[in-house]
Amino acid sequence: MLQQTGVKTVIPYFERFIAKWPDIKSLAKASENEILKYWQGLGYYSRGRNLLKSAKIIDLDYNGIIPNNLDDLLSLPGIGSYASAAIRSIGFDKKATVIDGNVKRVIARFFALSGKLKDNEKDISLLAKYLTPNKGNANYSQAIMEFGALICTPRQSSCSDCIVSHGCLSLKQGLVLEIPEAKTQTNKKNLRCASFLAIDKNNLVLIAKRKNESLLKNMWQLPSSDWINQSNNKKLLSQAPFKAKWSETGKKINYKFSHINLLNETYTANISLKIDLFDKDFKWVSIKALHKYPLVTLTKKILLDNNLI
Ligand code: SF4
Repeated sequence: MLQQTGVKTVIPYFERFIAKWPDIKSLAKASENEILKYWQGLGYYSRGRNLLKSAKIIDLDYNGIIPNNLDDLLSLPGIGSYASAAIRSIGFDKKATVIDGNVKRVIARFFALSGKLKDNEKDISLLAKYLTPNKGNANYSQAIMEFGALICTPRQSSCSDCIVSHGCLSLKQGLVLEIPEAKTQTNKKNLRCASFLAIDKNNLVLIAKRKNESLLKNMWQLPSSDWINQSNNKKLLSQAPFKAKWSETGKKINYKFSHINLLNETYTANISLKIDLFDKDFKWVSIKALHKYPLVTLTKKILLDNNLI
């Protein structure tokens, strides 16, 4: 959960998750749908899917016990160099070097490595290995990550509270604010799309399952149009799931992804009876049952805006 996401955001998700699946064996029995439901809103859903796949493998091949061997860990879905080092170090107190964004910044500052972090990857990795202790590795890994999160922070580092300030080269050279050099901002694409909210007189709402190959696969959403350039005036109504008297709600939602700003327009249609669409990826669901489906965040926002969940 902590890959790409801050601790504060993760805590409530983690607590709900661990209360529902307290061990590998119970997690291995969960369905992907359930996992996505509990992951809803946290983003990067492949992490949840991989966690489930790994739990099933650990249950079958390792009798439910997480392996501590590097090769075994790396063979599990979603476990790369960072996660394997974190598991071995924090979980098993083995000598393993954990390098996250916080650790990279602390090392770059302490040794005054000028330039961007990505240009210093090799040196940071060597220095991180050099600093890794033979004993007490679990405490050390957590301490250096926490030190970066609380003291040697990205913008306002607390150098006066720092216990290693006497050896810090950036502090000595007056470079704390310059190291690491900021990432170059990439221009985000501005796209727009339409979501279609159809409700029949029995309070059934039409939702659609995202395709297998897409981002957020197997999550559910309101039927939606393609994403097109914001400067394109094309009416998106032609991509509604069926012909009806669609009307625009006028409520636009701006949604920000890492590389895209998406502007969503919502169209609604109140129809007398549900229309059969003969496509297994579409489903009419009662308003009361909507909460059982793992919904993408944008759909959740639209449903909340319309007081449906
Ligand atoms: S002195 Fe400041 S910049 Fe250097 S390691 Fe400590 S907190 Fe970071």
